Amino acid sequence: MGRREPQEVPKMSAAPSSELLEEDVEALKIITELTLEEDERISHSIGKSYRDLLGVRLGLPIEATDAVALPRNVDEVRRIVEFASARGIAIVPFGGGTSVLGGLRPLRGNHRAVLTVDLRRLNKVLEIDDTSMLARVEAGILGPELEEKLQSRGMTLGHYPQSFHFSVLGGWIATRSRGHLSGRYGGIEDMVQAVKVITPTGELATKGIPARSVGPELRELILGSEGSLGIIVEAVLRVRRKAEATDTRVVLFDSFSGALDVCRKMVQAGIKPALVRISDEEESAMIMALAGLEAEDTPSLILLGFEGSRLEVVSGMKGALNILAEAGGVDMGHEAASVWEEEYYRSPYQRDELLDRGYLVETLETAASWSRLWDLYAGVHRALQRVNEEQGVEGLSLCHLSHIYRDGGSLYFTMIVPQLLGREVEQWQKLKEAATEVIMHEGGTLSHHHGIGVDHLQWMREEHGEAALKALRAVKSALDPSGIMNPGKVLEEED
Ligand SMILES: Cc1cc2nc3c(=O)[nH]c(=O)nc-3n(C[C@H](O)[C@H](O)[C@H](O)COP(=O)(O)OP(=O)(O)OC[C@H]3O[C@@H](n4cnc5c(N)ncnc54)[C@H](O)[C@@H]3O)c2cc1C
Repeated sequence: MGRREPQEVPKMSAAPSSELLEEDVEALKIITELTLEEDERISHSIGKSYRDLLGVRLGLPIEATDAVALPRNVDEVRRIVEFASARGIAIVPFGGGTSVLGGLRPLRGNHRAVLTVDLRRLNKVLEIDDTSMLARVEAGILGPELEEKLQSRGMTLGHYPQSFHFSVLGGWIATRSRGHLSGRYGGIEDMVQAVKVITPTGELATKGIPARSVGPELRELILGSEGSLGIIVEAVLRVRRKAEATDTRVVLFDSFSGALDVCRKMVQAGIKPALVRISDEEESAMIMALAGLEAEDTPSLILLGFEGSRLEVVSGMKGALNILAEAGGVDMGHEAASVWEEEYYRSPYQRDELLDRGYLVETLETAASWSRLWDLYAGVHRALQRVNEEQGVEGLSLCHLSHIYRDGGSLYFTMIVPQLLGREVEQWQKLKEAATEVIMHEGGTLSHHHGIGVDHLQWMREEHGEAALKALRAVKSALDPSGIMNPGKVLEEED
């Protein structure tokens, strides 16, 4: 590869001047800390989606937020939402800024201005109940801050998305995020016992109980709401004792399809590793080359991890390795796995370097039932290849299964293609649309853990159906009657 010398400094367009009136600024400054600095307005208007990152590099016009508010407590959040509701100003909640789907784009809808509310100062662990194993935590806390506080009390949340160092609790809840140890800890939706949200209609606080049977659960509506219903300010989290032992290994298998099949049987037999990641042949070849590992054929690489008590880990790993070995898997031990673990948090940022060199690097993720998974996988590959051929470029598409369930799994695709200079956005759109059409046709979901943002909006009707969208619209208009909360996300403006 090696297409273009890295750009020295990413280009950045100037932001248009703020649309807030002087009286808005004065009133907001009484309520909270507010900045209209251009750098702050721009950095709070872009996340980590391909279009955001490309826009910065190409100097595309920035849709900048009009101001950034930095509330210090829940009361300030409440007063900001009340003020914005009364004055018809749109609000975009801002967590860690790692949205990969344009969720932070400061769209104003039919409102005269837009205000981004950065929750970073709401970063306290308010209470730990170590009898019930619950922690009440503010929404702006970063992953490492939260884990440090819990681990100092011998506890963990166990939520480790690849963006762990830069993303925050409120963002995880708002996007229904999932970390790589989901086999043991589940997704964020399994960890949240209760949430507190400031909506334009008022405060919505769900009751903290282990389980209940009192009609549809409102907590579920907040999980994945992406700031479209209100600002999440607090959550009660289910925490665990820190694991006593861990064991992570690499197992080589002769094919991706075989590896999927044997891991399905393992999980359906009741063995549930904390981590299962199965790379297809293309991705395995790349990982092995980078790690300096050699194999005769091109195998499929399975990363297998257990966490928990020593007994759980030893017996879980033994049972899993027996099943894999019987089907031809070769245990490569811990060393290869430790290379993967070291690279886990670093590798996504290689994307920036490739973008600087003129490559399109985009990821897509979905989930489907086992019986549909293979056709979906093959179909996405074919679609990406077809679009690349039509556009006269040769690209790579890699895939791994990243989360495993008894009834199916989540597939994560990475595409790396030389950019078509001057047609970068159109090229990305064609690839994204072609792959997503296959995902929808083959019974996959629009997103397993990244969410909707703006990039997935056009497929929401196909994902949910008309009646469900009507219900979502009704909930939105009950909690946010004038539509100020994150316009143009989750539901289209005209919806
Ligand atoms: C390198 C990289 C790796 C990633 N790996 C993973 C992964 O392993 N698993 C995974 O699930 N995701 C992953 N993501 C996607 C992203 O990190 C997640 O979606 C994450 O949950 C977003 O959190 P955030 O704090 O950055 O939220 P933001 O990006 O700041 O916000 C995301 C959305 O939520 C809304 N929002 C944020 N805070 C609040 C709040 N308090 N109240 C209401 N709405 C709010 C925003 O308006 C926006 O629409 C990755 C992203 C990157 C860049």
